Amino acid sequence: MPEDLALAPASDIGMNDRQRELVDKVRKLGPTWAERAFKYDEDASFPFENYDDMKGNGLLSLCVPDQYGGLGADFPTYCIVAAEMGRWCGATALTFNMHACSALWTGSLADDLDMSGQEREQHEERRKEHYRRIVEDGKIYAQPFSEGSAAAAGKAPFGTLATKVEGGWLLNGKKIFASLSGAADYYGVLCTEDKPDKSVRDTLYIAVPADAEGVDIVGPWDPLGMRATVSRTLLMKDAFVPDAAELMPRGVYFQAASRWPHMFMTLSPSYMGIAQAAYEFTVAYLRGEVEGLPPVKRRMYPTKQIAVAEMFVKLQQTRALFERTINEARVDPSKEERLRAYATQYTIMESANELCRLAIRTCGGQSMLKSLPLERLYRDSRCGSLMLPWTAEICLDRLGREALYEPGESDDD
Ligand SMILES: Cc1cc2nc3c(=O)[nH]c(=O)nc-3n(C[C@H](O)[C@H](O)[C@H](O)COP(=O)(O)OP(=O)(O)OC[C@H]3O[C@@H](n4cnc5c(N)ncnc54)[C@H](O)[C@@H]3O)c2cc1C
Repeated sequence: MPEDLALAPASDIGMNDRQRELVDKVRKLGPTWAERAFKYDEDASFPFENYDDMKGNGLLSLCVPDQYGGLGADFPTYCIVAAEMGRWCGATALTFNMHACSALWTGSLADDLDMSGQEREQHEERRKEHYRRIVEDGKIYAQPFSEGSAAAAGKAPFGTLATKVEGGWLLNGKKIFASLSGAADYYGVLCTEDKPDKSVRDTLYIAVPADAEGVDIVGPWDPLGMRATVSRTLLMKDAFVPDAAELMPRGVYFQAASRWPHMFMTLSPSYMGIAQAAYEFTVAYLRGEVEGLPPVKRRMYPTKQIAVAEMFVKLQQTRALFERTINEARVDPSKEERLRAYATQYTIMESANELCRLAIRTCGGQSMLKSLPLERLYRDSRCGSLMLPWTAEICLDRLGREALYEPGESDDD
């Protein structure tokens, strides 16, 4: 497809020079990633080569703050770059979310949160080492939070428990859907401090080395979509980690979850990219410009033109909301901003799948063959609205309730 057409709806308008430069880095890698995606998907294998590319051009350190040698991307910059990754390989973008957000949350986001002087100092000391591993050693971080309980939705303490022992913590528990399993060097685990009357306030965020004794990856991985995330089950049995493995001081994760809600929106850029890719594929296909296929044009039928018009409208609506919301993410957002974040996550996740559905219906039977990317985009897009803590259902639940009730209000009397 001609470059100007391919880029037209990606709306680079509004990007600053730094963002444009970072997006360009990804764009250069993109066609190779798109090619590799077939194999990773077929084998359900991790995109190691794509991570080597990222190591090669500094992207692995995207969200590591400048003062620690990273690229210092803030929240909106991360989102824009991740959306570009998703345009070429959804699973690479989704796994990159887990890695990059380990640095984003402990970096610029944690800087916005309240800590005592001593906590701040300790946090600096500890995160410096996490960032050094990423920047100098090219280490990869994962974020296995889900347990198959109400914990990942923020409704209950985690079943994975951290028991305080001399010099560190002993971890016991099980995480399901641990993306990057077997590929990550560290698993950023959310767990609960083991003490009487534990609550969600006692959540700890701890980096568990993949090679720590007592850490095991188990179970099969053969899902519908996002297969290259390799999200198997992580077991921890009396796994010891030193105090310095804490990614945030005690109590700060709970503060982050309450005061920086947009932190849970960071999965959606991957799907924004998939939506874009589905639209672009459709245009190229109908113009007879998909590489490797005979140049058969199908664009002359009015129904196709209407379908593409509908897709364009949906893509623009979604992208506009995305761009607005990522730029208003901050600590203690207003009620409207918080509700808009739920609405944005919901919109992106649902629209990505809807655009892929429309793309297949419009392009027709040959377009969904395994030799083309569309059927994978469709399968990958289906996974977006299932991601906790902000699944499509939970976003709607929260939107409805928080729109109608102010904090503390009830109809019990
Ligand atoms: C490809 C892929 C990669 C993933 N990678 C990771 C990862 O790296 N790290 C990680 O932590 N997780 C990851 N997950 C897991 C994901 O975030 C969810 O935890 C998982 O999909 C939940 O599945 P479940 O069947 O246990 O959901 P359940 O908890 O059984 O929930 C089923 C549905 O019920 C609804 N629901 C659940 N709780 C509530 C509630 N309190 N209020 C209202 N509705 C509710 C939700 O809509 C949810 O989708 C991944 C999932 C997929 C598909």
